[in-house]
Amino acid sequence: EEGLFACGFRPGDVAVNTFSYHMTPAGMMFDDSLGRLECAVIPTGIGDREAQIEILRSYSVTGYVGMASFLLQIGQKAIEMGLDPQKDLCLKAAFSTAEPLPDSLRNSVQDMFGLILRQGYGTADCGCLAYECNLRGGMHLTTRAYVEIVDPLTGKPMPNGETGEVVVTLFNEAYPLIRFGTGDLSAIDESSCGCKRTSPKLRGWLGRADQLVKVKGMFIHPGLVQKAMAEFPDFQKFRAVVTREDNRDYLTLKIETAAPPEKSVVEALKKRLRDHLKIGCEVFACAPESLPSDSKILDDQRRWD
Ligand SMILES: [Zn+2]
Repeated sequence: EEGLFACGFRPGDVAVNTFSYHMTPAGMMFDDSLGRLECAVIPTGIGDREAQIEILRSYSVTGYVGMASFLLQIGQKAIEMGLDPQKDLCLKAAFSTAEPLPDSLRNSVQDMFGLILRQGYGTADCGCLAYECNLRGGMHLTTRAYVEIVDPLTGKPMPNGETGEVVVTLFNEAYPLIRFGTGDLSAIDESSCGCKRTSPKLRGWLGRADQLVKVKGMFIHPGLVQKAMAEFPDFQKFRAVVTREDNRDYLTLKIETAAPPEKSVVEALKKRLRDHLKIGCEVFACAPESLPSDSKILDDQRRWD
């Protein structure tokens, strides 16, 4: 509800809700929230893009709730049908959740329809827990729940700003949850926001807790390795390997390359990985086709017996 309002939904708006109403609570949750905001809801659910377009046109729908990727598909279909999504449809606000929202997807949808797209973070059990304001850059936490970021192994709260598992306590008398582990990773940003909301922000979805590996006391995630390596497009195949000798952890980045990399490149790689992972690593160049062909990015080879 707060999230939809921040996104631009207002009383009197007509909205389609493309989340499913069966086998998942998302449809009903958003239906309730839109109703409380006094928006008219058309429960279209997922599927049949042509029917969605017909409804968007016939009822002059201004709001969209659903996944951004599905809205992009609706827009592509509308263009195929010879329509102009900006002129023939009148969507002005879209609220997306249930999937990561890269800037490329957000921009494509906003440009296609000429609307404002904002995202929320939530789970099936907890509903929407955080949402973007007009300034973006993280999602404000709702006041309906108490959200903690904890060490996934010990359950202890992490210092602010560090990445850990999102754990939720819900203030819902009909469906109380106390310290429910979502399995999702995120971090809390306490810095103040220009929109004047005082609630801290969640940094968005940063991966799943079961993919986390603790090395030299720091959690590292395959996504962080991938992010660091995105700046080195010359190395398409790589693998970060964790080993342990004499009770010390070692992280080695293996890269496939035809020629041995320059010393400056190796230093740059080490630096970027240290920036992203907060721990040092060694770089090991190997011949093309020598790394296993699975797409594993982080390989924990330590044995604890
Ligand atoms: Zn804000």
